[in-house]
Amino acid sequence: MSSPITIVHLYAKEMNIYGDNGNILVLQKRLEWRGFTVEVVRVGVGDSFPKNVHIVMGGGGQDAGQQAIADDLKMKQTQLQKFADNGVPMLMICGMYQMFGKAFITADNTNIAGIGILDVTTKAESGRLVGNVCSQSDYGQLIGYENHSGRTSLGVHSKALGTVPTGQGNDGVDGTEGVRLNNVFGSYLHGPVLSKSPQFADYLLRLALDVAGDARELEPIDDALELRAAKVAVSRPR
Ligand code: GLN
Repeated sequence: MSSPITIVHLYAKEMNIYGDNGNILVLQKRLEWRGFTVEVVRVGVGDSFPKNVHIVMGGGGQDAGQQAIADDLKMKQTQLQKFADNGVPMLMICGMYQMFGKAFITADNTNIAGIGILDVTTKAESGRLVGNVCSQSDYGQLIGYENHSGRTSLGVHSKALGTVPTGQGNDGVDGTEGVRLNNVFGSYLHGPVLSKSPQFADYLLRLALDVAGDARELEPIDDALELRAAKVAVSRPR
């Protein structure tokens, strides 16, 4: 049997709202259905990374959760930057997206330092950006739900992950959603987003397999249910 694909899940306890932990389950299942062996390693405060890391995932959280993990994340910065430089795919949702940027300045003006892997900065404003989102990306339609106080500005060389004809996205103004730098993705989409965005899920898995040096094909999966869920979500009012 070939060696397992290792999914690292950052701060599962502090950073998991609106079902973001489900993204890990989606990745795990989409690999197992195709005969791959999967190992999910939760890396929380005080934990170190396993030897092999093929993909890293992080979810959203309250401001308090972000504050609780900030110091620990700082200690993991060098290692995470190394993974990013080596092309390890990562998907950071909402609160963790903000923490992978330079800083998140909360509504009460607390500056929570990020680790700057992504060239974005987030500042909270009083009204929250809330609702269903349908984002158009190079990896298919991304379907999710957003609820954030933060407005994220992309650095000049940053490339948005998608555009949002429906939804508020990064800042509620410029029509962009999320960011991609190398193979590191940030997005505001909860839901969990991968459950209704199978093309994106497989895109991330292909990147993870490349890191693992595993050339096996990702056989097509019948995504009828996932696509139906996406269609229903799109038809719902914001
Ligand atoms: N606390 C952050 C904000 O309000 C992130 C929220 C989230 O992860 N949904 O912007």
